[in-house]
Amino acid sequence: MTPSIADAIVIGAGVLGASVALDLTRRGYKVAVVDKSGGPGHGSTSASSAVVRFNYSTWDGVATAWESKHCWEKWSDYLQNSDKSESATIVVNGMAVLDVPIAPRERVTPIFDRVGVPYERWDPVTLSARIPGIDVGAYWPPKSISSDAFFEETTSELGALYTPDAGFVSDPQLAAQDLVAAAQKLGARFLFNRTVVRVSDRAGRVNGVALGDGTWLAAPVVINVAGPWSGALNRLAGVGREFTVDVRPMRQEVHQVAAPTGFNPPGGFGPSIADMDLGTYIRPAPGDKLYIGGTEPECDPFEWLDDPDYANPSVTDERFQAQVIRAARRLPELAVPSRSKGVAGVYDVSTDWAPIYDRTDLDGFYVAMGTSGNQFKNAPLAGQFMGELVDAVEGGHDHDAKPVIHRCKYTGHEINIGAFSRKRSRNSTSSGTVMG
Ligand SMILES: Cc1cc2nc3c(=O)[nH]c(=O)nc-3n(C[C@H](O)[C@H](O)[C@H](O)COP(=O)(O)OP(=O)(O)OC[C@H]3O[C@@H](n4cnc5c(N)ncnc54)[C@H](O)[C@@H]3O)c2cc1C
Repeated sequence: MTPSIADAIVIGAGVLGASVALDLTRRGYKVAVVDKSGGPGHGSTSASSAVVRFNYSTWDGVATAWESKHCWEKWSDYLQNSDKSESATIVVNGMAVLDVPIAPRERVTPIFDRVGVPYERWDPVTLSARIPGIDVGAYWPPKSISSDAFFEETTSELGALYTPDAGFVSDPQLAAQDLVAAAQKLGARFLFNRTVVRVSDRAGRVNGVALGDGTWLAAPVVINVAGPWSGALNRLAGVGREFTVDVRPMRQEVHQVAAPTGFNPPGGFGPSIADMDLGTYIRPAPGDKLYIGGTEPECDPFEWLDDPDYANPSVTDERFQAQVIRAARRLPELAVPSRSKGVAGVYDVSTDWAPIYDRTDLDGFYVAMGTSGNQFKNAPLAGQFMGELVDAVEGGHDHDAKPVIHRCKYTGHEINIGAFSRKRSRNSTSSGTVMG
């Protein structure tokens, strides 16, 4: 038998994989992380808008995001032993989630009350006072920008649910590097430019992975944190049939434009805006810029992919126009540039747009996947969930029958990791979008 290279192999060194590696090393595991790219956070993580918000459709989703926010706020304490000269930071600018029938505010406010997330209810008058220049028209449902209906006027108005503690992380790739550095200091090994091409060479229990260069890495635990490639990794491991939620890669673009005058206060940032009413989200960025992403309006084509490796890495004029014109409808002073600028990335979309943090039917093979464009913010907790799960299950606990409960360090909440099970009933309250 080949001696084990590690107690656990993590596939993927994105922000989640690095976080899983850190938690496992803290628990005393000898960890090896394999990534086919050249460094930390080169997958979905690099394209992330890194918005930290709390509007999710379930208690566990909200509680996870709220606890994670506390980890970002205490990032250097959280990393403990990182002596990097520069680390990621959280910027708190607040977020206005505009009213929309598919995610009514009455659904989330009772959850916010239980979790302790502060919020303000804004009527249309308050919304226009708090976000200078905003158009408070309600246009639902989103329409194609090539249709006349998109430009029709409306007599109805909308308000918003505002969470003052929402924000964004300054640099998502740097956050992944921070986690890698902290894990390395505790002894985790990172193998870059190495591709996992086979998982396990025996049935029943995972025993390692084979790399593209022919190397065999033996370990009794393997964790699939491969982002949009996670479905393919599951197929290599022969798992997935037992999953009630499927995953599929979806290409996305986030565009960059100049903020309209007055949107950002001098030296600061205006609030982020989640605008499912028009099908977009808006996040301020340094240099008086705005990032503009999409919330999957049904009228625009979805870019499902068979293989993320073949995703077009460049932004397209068509997507740029669609998203920026939607944002300009909401912020009429926003100028739509003729040249498109931004980033393209890939989501790992699950059937109900919630992540899967779980074991699988192949003993020793775990997954942190299906992050659906909304789990960057939850990377700290995803790492802790997986560490706790691996510890419990490898210690003989039957997580499928009696889900492991995570006790949150900062908020004291108890989160049922079974809420993110591969065998869960699909979340019928999901917005069916990146908002979860
Ligand atoms: C455009 C965009 C905007 C987003 N905005 C937000 C946001 O505002 N807020 C938020 O919370 N979330 C957001 N997200 C989601 C968030 O970025 C992801 O959920 C998160 O980055 C996923 O991290 P990960 O580590 O799981 O995956 P990745 O970062 O994709 O890492 C997976 C890694 O696995 C490696 N890998 C894959 N296959 C193999 C293999 N066979 N062998 C070895 N290595 C392999 C890849 O090279 C990659 O580095 C956004 C995502 C995108 C794409």
